[in-house]
Amino acid sequence: MKKEPRGWRELPIGAVTYKLSLEYKTGGWRTLKPIIDLSKCTRCMLCWLFCPEMAIVWSGRDVLVNYDYCKGCGICAYECPVKAIDMVPEYS
Ligand code: SF4
Ligand code: SF4
Repeated sequence: MKKEPRGWRELPIGAVTYKLSLEYKTGGWRTLKPIIDLSKCTRCMLCWLFCPEMAIVWSGRDVLVNYDYCKGCGICAYECPVKAIDMVPEYS
């Protein structure tokens, strides 16, 4: 039997954060940390485009990581076309 799609009012309540996302620092989740080799970086900004936390920052000259919000997912390193980003252990 085919199920009809449910409206949002019928869905169970899920997790809710009570703070603004700026106050919720996802950097605390990180076990791996992206390190950008600026000598390899071509400033293409694909890492910025793909980062789910908007943690890649353009300084006006270089590409930087805001570690308050970088959760260490590694998507930036995976997507970087010149492999300029290494994921290294946060604690070693
Ligand atoms: S994706 Fe790689 S090359 Fe492009 S800006 Fe980011 S670090 Fe630099
Ligand atoms: S590791 Fe994930 S959260 Fe951190 S800068 Fe890269 S894509 Fe963004």
